[in-house]
Amino acid sequence: MKEIVVLSGKGGTGKTTLLGSFALLADNKVMADCDVDAADLHLLLAPIPRKKNKFHTGVKARVIKTQCTSCGTCKELCQFGAVSLNGSAAIDPFACEGCGVCAHFCPEEAIVLDENYCGNWFISDTDYGVLVHAQLFAGEENSGKLVTFIKKKARELAEQQSAESILVDGSPGIGCPVIASLSNVDAILAVTEPTQSGWHDLERVLELADHFKIQSFVCLNKWDLNPGMAEEIVASCQKRRVDVLGYIPFDPAVVSSQLAGVPFGKDNNGPAALAIREIWKQLHGKVIGGKID
Ligand code: SF4
Ligand code: SF4
Repeated sequence: MKEIVVLSGKGGTGKTTLLGSFALLADNKVMADCDVDAADLHLLLAPIPRKKNKFHTGVKARVIKTQCTSCGTCKELCQFGAVSLNGSAAIDPFACEGCGVCAHFCPEEAIVLDENYCGNWFISDTDYGVLVHAQLFAGEENSGKLVTFIKKKARELAEQQSAESILVDGSPGIGCPVIASLSNVDAILAVTEPTQSGWHDLERVLELADHFKIQSFVCLNKWDLNPGMAEEIVASCQKRRVDVLGYIPFDPAVVSSQLAGVPFGKDNNGPAALAIREIWKQLHGKVIGGKID
């Protein structure tokens, strides 16, 4: 079983669209949406959740008002400015870091630490296979931990169904959730566009993959909007000995499928769909071990 993560240095490069198309093309796979801060693969795959599950991480302090004598100790000790005193102590859950100092020193034992419910995760059925996905609540942190959890669930399911691959939609950027999405990965496919910022972000992703010694592949999306820069990006990939698996041209049909909320490529033989099929064939051949014609 091979795990492939599709990444981009920033949002909006077509990463999720590409993963949606792979969902159409790949056999016997489990999919995982690890872009937990802004999950959107579900918009293309129309998942039907088997069950909604709560995700907890860390703790938040809570005051038992009937026990509080308003002594002010917790307000004095909190380094995060999370406590206010108004009759009794009150804690701002968005400012509380869950360090527990207030609970430890409260003379009345009036503060408890509750598990922090910070999002939901789902195992869902789609027309294209099983999808494991999640949504963090606004303002919640620790998305790296949730990504690790989602990947673990996806791997368990993939093992149960003897899947050929796990296809992961990674987060944009190179932060904590991306690093979490790289654990146990066999290859990354970095999607970029021929712009200066796209190139810069691609370099950062490739450096990250190098650091973790993960095999990288690249594909260029909308390459024909700036063929000169596309050529420069390809040359820099060649210098790094990174395979460029394909070039997806701009195709308005991609936008139409996004608006329709369906994976791109179904019943489509246009230039972008053909390019994506070729990229999948290459990726499958090089990572999973299929035949390349
Ligand atoms: S330390 Fe305890 S008793 Fe004192 S204000 Fe805070 S919650 Fe109330
Ligand atoms: S748990 Fe820590 S951060 Fe939260 S209110 Fe208490 S002292 Fe402040």
